Amino acid sequence: RNPPPTLYQPELWSDHFNDFICKCLIKDFELRPNVLDLLQHVFIRQIVGRERILQKQLMELIDLNQQIGTTGKTRYRHDLKRPHIALLDDLVTLEVLDEVRDSIEQLQRRYAKDQIYTYVGDILIAVNPFHKMELYSPQYTKMYIGAKRTANPPHIFAVADIAYQSMVSYNADQCIVISGESGAGKTESAHLLVEQLTVLGKANNRSLQEKILLVNNLVEAFGNACTAINDNSSRFGKYLEMKFTCGGTVVGAQISEYLLEKSRVVHQATGEKNFHIFYYIYAGLAERKKLAHYKLSDSKTPKYLFNEHIKLGPDIVNNTFYKEQFDSVEQCFKVIGFTLEVHTLYVYSTLAAILNSGDIEFTSVASEHQTDKSNISNIAVLENAALLLCIRPDELQEALTSHCVVARGETIVRPNTVDKATEVRDAMGKALYGRLFSWIVNRINTLEDDKGLNIGILDIFGFENFKRNSFEQLCINIANEQIQFYFNQHIFAWEQDEYLNEDVDARVIEYEDNRPLLDLFLQKPMGMLSLLDEESRFPQATDQTLVEKFEDNLKSKNFWRPKRVDLGFGIHHYAGKVIYNAAGFLSKNRDTLPADIVLLLRSSENQLIRKLVTHPLTKTGKHTWSNSNSGDTGTGETTHHPRESTNMRTQTVASYFRYSLMDLLSKMVAGQPHFVRCIKPNNDRQASKFDREKVLVQLRYTGVLETAKIRRQGYSHRILYTNFVNRYYILAFHAHKEPDASPETCAAILEKTKLENWVLGKTKVFLKYYHVETLNLMVRQTI
Ligand code: ADP
Ligand code: MG
Repeated sequence: RNPPPTLYQPELWSDHFNDFICKCLIKDFELRPNVLDLLQHVFIRQIVGRERILQKQLMELIDLNQQIGTTGKTRYRHDLKRPHIALLDDLVTLEVLDEVRDSIEQLQRRYAKDQIYTYVGDILIAVNPFHKMELYSPQYTKMYIGAKRTANPPHIFAVADIAYQSMVSYNADQCIVISGESGAGKTESAHLLVEQLTVLGKANNRSLQEKILLVNNLVEAFGNACTAINDNSSRFGKYLEMKFTCGGTVVGAQISEYLLEKSRVVHQATGEKNFHIFYYIYAGLAERKKLAHYKLSDSKTPKYLFNEHIKLGPDIVNNTFYKEQFDSVEQCFKVIGFTLEVHTLYVYSTLAAILNSGDIEFTSVASEHQTDKSNISNIAVLENAALLLCIRPDELQEALTSHCVVARGETIVRPNTVDKATEVRDAMGKALYGRLFSWIVNRINTLEDDKGLNIGILDIFGFENFKRNSFEQLCINIANEQIQFYFNQHIFAWEQDEYLNEDVDARVIEYEDNRPLLDLFLQKPMGMLSLLDEESRFPQATDQTLVEKFEDNLKSKNFWRPKRVDLGFGIHHYAGKVIYNAAGFLSKNRDTLPADIVLLLRSSENQLIRKLVTHPLTKTGKHTWSNSNSGDTGTGETTHHPRESTNMRTQTVASYFRYSLMDLLSKMVAGQPHFVRCIKPNNDRQASKFDREKVLVQLRYTGVLETAKIRRQGYSHRILYTNFVNRYYILAFHAHKEPDASPETCAAILEKTKLENWVLGKTKVFLKYYHVETLNLMVRQTI
């Protein structure tokens, strides 16, 4: 009955407890009864608090072994070869037999038990449960505050806690990068992080906490939409920075938005919808009997919302969910200081104007000189749109159906064809919506304080590969390529460089370096985006000449053209092969709002509309991405007009995209990163369905399996001797006298703490990912 003395070493219980027990059960067969006894009679009664969870797992293990025990030795011996490993919270602690198979099996078994979170060292994997989980109640909120990571099962709240504690301890900004494909759970994860961080940040007034969460909802009402994959899909990238004082009290939040998918305003793929807000206002205004006021009809669906699957009456106007959301949007407006009379009125008018203008129809009229003039066939609709835009209908008509060109110093008015007029109409809708979105985001930001520390949360659209992939997918996938590169740098490259520099002996882990792909896209002047910009400057260029230019100049095995004749080209991304169709690339890249429209909108009586096309939407002195998300916004480029002498350079979407990507990256690298990898377990949004193949593909391309390896073998924390001694000397020395920052001092501290597996390099202490947490906890307990 006397347990081996080692079992009483508490550090064995906590960090490697699970592992340890497994080993006892697996390796030391003869010890089995002994161990079982021990567990049942001694251990379990002593396991309190933080070991509670392990206790549950232990019981499972005991159960299992007892069952096996009774079925005879053969079975048990068989299992010895492929032991039934207990569920592990951290894949790094896996006794690896077969990395792929064992990792997947772990995730699958955990998922079956609703354990959707799993660590891979310091990275969190979150498998989308597709059903409501009892994991986020106040009880959980509390459980994860300041707790040791191994004390509780893996959880998104633990990531919030680590980021928060690191921010406070090191007085340094943090950054949480959430990645995963569409519908994998990124936005939900971001919400949960924000919630937990507001609690951690002791948002002392409830209203601030509410405000941050409300604002998030407001931005999503304008930026999210129902897609084939996700009913609440974010159609923009979001970088949310939570602002804290140096003491760690939350004081506000700031949102930057990236690449809103504006094309959705005027066109949606089959089975998809427009941005949520359109349906919300439709239902909300109907409820308030105000549709007519905004020139909307409850019997005829606006073209921009038309979709054979959604009926205007029952599905939109009478939809109670939409009505509730509308109320919530109005409440948000109030909270962020919009007045009902001015702001909301302007916002609704702008949205209604977009819908009305979408219904303007053009017909082709033959004329003596040109056969391709266009005429507006439903003048009443045009008048409604003009009324809502507070401009003169005849001027709107003119701006849609004709354009000015300067030839030999003379301004000539040229008619637009029906196609051209339609294009101008849609460009106006997209531009107004895009700028409205930016304006709202910026309005929110001006309310918040901007000092102290911050934790950034990146929730950006995941890798996309559809049947038909266009310019939008290319941009999204380039952004993902960049984020994957950052992940690789952080997890693999920098770590392995340091082994070399510091003469530390550690195994080199192979990983997929996607730098060649980034070069393919971003290199100047021969990268894809540069080539696209160059081609966009030629008026004669076509999408066909563009792909040919790609083919002639891009020398990379990751680029190919499946067929010579069409507009298709393929890219072998880190996450898989994608075939793009270059149709519309040039016009999407130019994304110009005709000068005639800009000038006209500037004459609007609606202040908001005037603002959207006139002023740069900047916060004073700060140039954020969100000033404009279309590349042509606000800053004056679009004011280029033959009648005005401006020599503004036209900014393309590609160059703007490149700029914003760099801007985002610089924000990210400034903070210490934490990674959350969202995994989609199946394509049917079904609860408890785990498609192994699908999960495997995601684990593979995100490098999760290699991450497990490098975390198992490597040292994720490298701390300079001086910093290490300064931070931790009190664990081994008298508090009033800081010792020399020598390797000996470091060794003395580490020996005192009884940690194992650390290494001293030439100038740095090399620690495992789990060491730092233990050290910090010890420090907190000492002071
Ligand atoms: P993404 O932002 O990656 O496209 P979302 O965060 O919008 O994906 O998640 C898609 C859907 O999956 C959500 O609408 C929700 O139904 C479900 N989901 C995701 N995460 C969770 C979670 N932690 N608990 C319950 N349901 C979730
Ligand atoms: Mg999302």
